[in-house]
Amino acid sequence: MGDLSDLYQQIIVEHNRSPRNFKKLPHATNAAEGSNPLCGDQIRVELQLDGDRIADIGFQGSGCAISQASASLLTGAVLGKTKSEAEALFREVHTMLTSATDAPVDAARLGKLAALAGVRRFPVRVKCASLSWHTLHAALREGAEPVTTE
Ligand code: ZN
Repeated sequence: MGDLSDLYQQIIVEHNRSPRNFKKLPHATNAAEGSNPLCGDQIRVELQLDGDRIADIGFQGSGCAISQASASLLTGAVLGKTKSEAEALFREVHTMLTSATDAPVDAARLGKLAALAGVRRFPVRVKCASLSWHTLHAALREGAEPVTTE
């Protein structure tokens, strides 16, 4: 497992250093904001929906490396997906983050998102990793209230 943990760690570090889709969307159709007061993480997710499909996505935020890397990984994972595909991925990541530390992770299916499974060993960081996903979930629904992981 050592090598895999190192790889996952590198993915988190790299996405925090060079976040993907860290931008404002000029024509956002959906947006939501979330915060994790325990850690001070803030995330805003903006979506541009084309019918049922996520045609563009951007996030802005500040906070710890895990929260920012998770948001970056999220944007890459759901871009081009339909709302229901994105919701299914939200549920899958949520299940992964809240399962036992030794529960198997379907890395073939989750790809780089599997890197987030490493936070299960640090329960206080799970909310850092899940914040952007809860915010995405809120953005996909119309008229959503600001979300908090509290
Ligand atoms: Zn955090």
